[in-house]
Amino acid sequence: MTKEEREVMRMALEAMNLASGNLCETLNHSKKLQHKIGEPCPAVAKFDAAITAIEKCLANDTSQERVDKTEKQRHWVELTDDEISACSKGNMTRSGFARTIEAKLREKNT
Ligand SMILES: [Zn+2]
Repeated sequence: MTKEEREVMRMALEAMNLASGNLCETLNHSKKLQHKIGEPCPAVAKFDAAITAIEKCLANDTSQERVDKTEKQRHWVELTDDEISACSKGNMTRSGFARTIEAKLREKNT
């Protein structure tokens, strides 16, 4: 779920939670949803089911955790002194050393 989608769902939930009082009287009852006085209201049941579904969706959404995890992974990982020493072994030009360091850093940070 994108950040925008989460926000839209939160807004919908907030708006739906504003509905209070006698929802059965307030909600529009199409022919299919009409019922006798005292009977459980299918319109209210639909409304409650939608609220529950949105709450469940928001609770189960792990996309924000994935974003957090990705950002955690973006922290720069440095080379240790031993790794730098290992990169400079042998008879090597300065640019060769630089490229070896570059490759090692890329390996640790991607
Ligand atoms: Zn009703």
